[in-house]
Amino acid sequence: FKQTSYRDTWAEVNLNHIKSNVEKAKAHFKQKMHLMAVVKADGYGHGAVKTAEAALQAGAAFLGVALLEEAIELRETGIEAPILVLGRTRPEDSQLAAEQDIRLTVFQESWLVEAEKHLSSKNKLHIHIKVDTGMGRIGIVSKEDLVSFANVLKSCEKIETEGLFTHFATADEKNSSYFQKQYHRFLNMLEAAADNIGDLSYIHCGNSAAGLRFPDKCFNMFRFGISMYGLTPSEEILDEIPFPLKQAFSLHSRIVQIKKLLPGESISYGATYTTIDEEWIATIPIGYADGWYRYHSTYGGEVLVNGQRAPIVGRICMDQMMIKLPEYTPIGTKVSLIGEQDNESITVLEAANRIHTITYEIPCMISKRVPRIYV
Ligand code: PLP
Repeated sequence: FKQTSYRDTWAEVNLNHIKSNVEKAKAHFKQKMHLMAVVKADGYGHGAVKTAEAALQAGAAFLGVALLEEAIELRETGIEAPILVLGRTRPEDSQLAAEQDIRLTVFQESWLVEAEKHLSSKNKLHIHIKVDTGMGRIGIVSKEDLVSFANVLKSCEKIETEGLFTHFATADEKNSSYFQKQYHRFLNMLEAAADNIGDLSYIHCGNSAAGLRFPDKCFNMFRFGISMYGLTPSEEILDEIPFPLKQAFSLHSRIVQIKKLLPGESISYGATYTTIDEEWIATIPIGYADGWYRYHSTYGGEVLVNGQRAPIVGRICMDQMMIKLPEYTPIGTKVSLIGEQDNESITVLEAANRIHTITYEIPCMISKRVPRIYV
């Protein structure tokens, strides 16, 4: 994230909260558990490097990213922990991964054959095999295909298998029947793997929801994403989260103008809001180009000023928005769009519910021109 900033708008990331979530998650498992801190998409918008460092300090053993370039970014800052790329990497880039000791996710025989051509015998490539047990996204679907894949693998001299995994589609839903179906398919695939693939050091399937709700179904590695940032995977399983999650992300700005308007004056594009009385209207320098989308004004968004809720009025612009205040409030006063002030708080979940999305999207949406400040 760009840290040189000349504006009064910033996101705060509490690294101690991330550490606490990691420590509590590790303690939640009875079995020995390798925790993979999932820091893809720039650490779900929190900043991948800082998040990764905090998670590793707190006991994470592995890092998970979506793209090879995300793994390389971590390596470039000197992070030496094992990293797994969870998405598909092109086979022609396998050598780059091997050189930097980055693990890749693999699920195609043709990929193995192609990668062998690009790999040098100097650095072996470590792979985790992905099986698709019902997510329908990437992975080997059938047992027969897994056996056939394993046979090709035997002839690959530059590739070493380290793990096998799958991903759940509904672990965050109250009804766990589809989860159970996927889990049993995974067990079935593991049987085939045990007969056809040598040592598998890491077996993993649990995302936050699965790990927190079904710890005994997570084998020996837990891919901890959303709840490492202190956010619930979904609202419907809030009552099943086994320890209090500490939200790491908050979003703030400051008043840049305050004015008293007469009744009948309109605010922002489309003049959709019109004052009824004399009203104090303040301008805040954050807008949809910062990832603070117009939906927040469409759906009655609020912010905190001096510990009180204040409504967003008129449409959110590209770089600015307006709020209505009960009284004169000086320029420079802090405005929290997400976070706590005195005894009031606006959570990421509230912001997500407001615009009919999931917690994941909120910090991811906040664009790079909003600096992340680490506390
Ligand atoms: N594993 C994979 C393959 C993922 O795609 C993700 C995130 O979407 C995760 C783990 C982490 O999931 P969560 O953020 O729900 O913990």
